[in-house]
Amino acid sequence: MSAPNKSYDPVEVSALQPEALDAARDEAIAAIAAAADLEELKKVRLAHAGDRSPLALANREIGALPPAARADAGRRIGAARAAVGQALKARQAELEEERDQRVLAEETVDVTLPWDRAPRGARHPLTTLQERMADVFVSMGFEVAEGPEVEAGWFNFDALNFKPDHPARTMQDTFFVESEDTDLVLRTHTSPVQVRAMLSRPLPVYVVVPGRTYRTDELDATHSPVFHQLEGLAVDEGLTMADLRGAIDAFVHGMFGEGLGTRFRPSYFPFTEPSAEVDMQCFVCRGGSVEPGAEPCRTCASEGWIELGGCGMVNPRVLVACGIDPDRYSGWAFGLGVERSLMFRHGVEDMHDMVEGDVRFTLPFGMEI
Ligand SMILES: [Zn+2]
Repeated sequence: MSAPNKSYDPVEVSALQPEALDAARDEAIAAIAAAADLEELKKVRLAHAGDRSPLALANREIGALPPAARADAGRRIGAARAAVGQALKARQAELEEERDQRVLAEETVDVTLPWDRAPRGARHPLTTLQERMADVFVSMGFEVAEGPEVEAGWFNFDALNFKPDHPARTMQDTFFVESEDTDLVLRTHTSPVQVRAMLSRPLPVYVVVPGRTYRTDELDATHSPVFHQLEGLAVDEGLTMADLRGAIDAFVHGMFGEGLGTRFRPSYFPFTEPSAEVDMQCFVCRGGSVEPGAEPCRTCASEGWIELGGCGMVNPRVLVACGIDPDRYSGWAFGLGVERSLMFRHGVEDMHDMVEGDVRFTLPFGMEI
């Protein structure tokens, strides 16, 4: 601030000259008009209306004027500052309006867009395949039966003619709940549901049992500690192995197409006698890949046959354990692996794909129901 002077000297306080004030005002108004957005206007406000702006600095010089000149100078500065203030206010309003319009335009919500952008979930292919397999038997008159996954050892082993020293009854193969003493296991197959069905249903019994089963296998390309089986059981008067063969044939034709052959190979299971492994003719090469010089077949490894599962006539001991007279009734049963079926039916090569929950694996199967 300049020192007070007694004789008014317009040169000494040139900032208060009308021309200087007009120039400062015009410069401010031009800068305000040129501000393109609110951010720029903020800088312009600081430069032209702030404490260090030319008009504010000129205002401070009023004290340096002789008293007679102060009112006049004060009026001129006041008018200039008022003009700048008004211009700022008007531009502020303009820019705010522009901003609001832009926000409205840019952040418009299109209410016609689909509201649900989350992709729809799909059922796991193992579930849909399992149901499809069960449906073939349901169409033949079978009922779907279910049972607990935590099962008493008696249902899982004893009633099915597993002797107490059978290797499946050790912790090597079976998950015991808490300890071996409790005799509670995670069922190692769906066969205990056969026992439950025979004990709880009136004869004749025709049930199909899809379900989850457990064995102490490490997860690798072809094994999983949790897997799925489809079990079938028929108990009636006069049933023979031929009925079993007929049901298996009908299943193969229903699932894989007409005209595919099946074959039984002798085998052993504690709960069936006689027992057999069932193979079906390969549905891709129809057995043709075994011919000399034929194209190799990946589905059956050029063997012409695909292993389906195990089956047999229900062991009379099992019927007796379930309170059924083996002289009057006979039965047959089969068990098919669902994972195995998915593998050869759809060319899935690694068990990991089925259990890891990656939607890139499950999505191509779609919403098949
Ligand atoms: Zn083949």
